[in-house]
Amino acid sequence: MRILVVEDEPTLAAQLVEGVSAAGYVADSAGNGIDAHFMGDTEPYDAVVLDLGLPGMDGITVLKKWRAAGRTMPVLILTARDSWHEKVAGIDAGADDYLAKPFHMEELLARLRALIRRTGGHASTELACGPLTLDTRSSRASVAGRALALTAHEYRVLAYLMHHQGEVVSRGELIEHIYAQDFDRDSNTVEVFIARLRKKLPPGLIETVRGLGYRLACPP
Ligand code: CA
Repeated sequence: MRILVVEDEPTLAAQLVEGVSAAGYVADSAGNGIDAHFMGDTEPYDAVVLDLGLPGMDGITVLKKWRAAGRTMPVLILTARDSWHEKVAGIDAGADDYLAKPFHMEELLARLRALIRRTGGHASTELACGPLTLDTRSSRASVAGRALALTAHEYRVLAYLMHHQGEVVSRGELIEHIYAQDFDRDSNTVEVFIARLRKKLPPGLIETVRGLGYRLACPP
């Protein structure tokens, strides 16, 4: 799951990237509205954290432009404290949720989890596929109650497949959702992560769909 963090205040931006990364997501960041608009318009983010007061282009304008262009990713806006009119304007512009500054990182992460979950049609923080479960709060996976030891990349691949279980996910799509923008992406690494995951998971759970990609096939 890949998150775009838009915040012009450097210390807060760094805290957000650190918090989001520690929660098992991969994060890109933008410090002004122009870059933010371009990145959200061209990259497939699973969610966006968007500060409203930004240099270059304000957050409300950025959000309106995304929505006008048909970009539907969930967006959590950061508003000034006690500014109810910012919340109203943000929600009217297409925000899915808001958080007033200052906020606790735990609350931001809980709201992000909820947004990503709802986008995938999942009601619970724990996703299940047969004996495999993924707890999105602790970023841990287990099989029949036994915790799996996963690297950060293996977790990201598995989390993306779990959020899209039953769907065919291409290698290119996986790459776009497990690496940050400036990372040197090598599509062969996806095959390596899938091979390692298969060794740790019950046989047959990750299917290869020839020429198209992978599918998490959950037993009924
Ligand atoms: Ca700001």
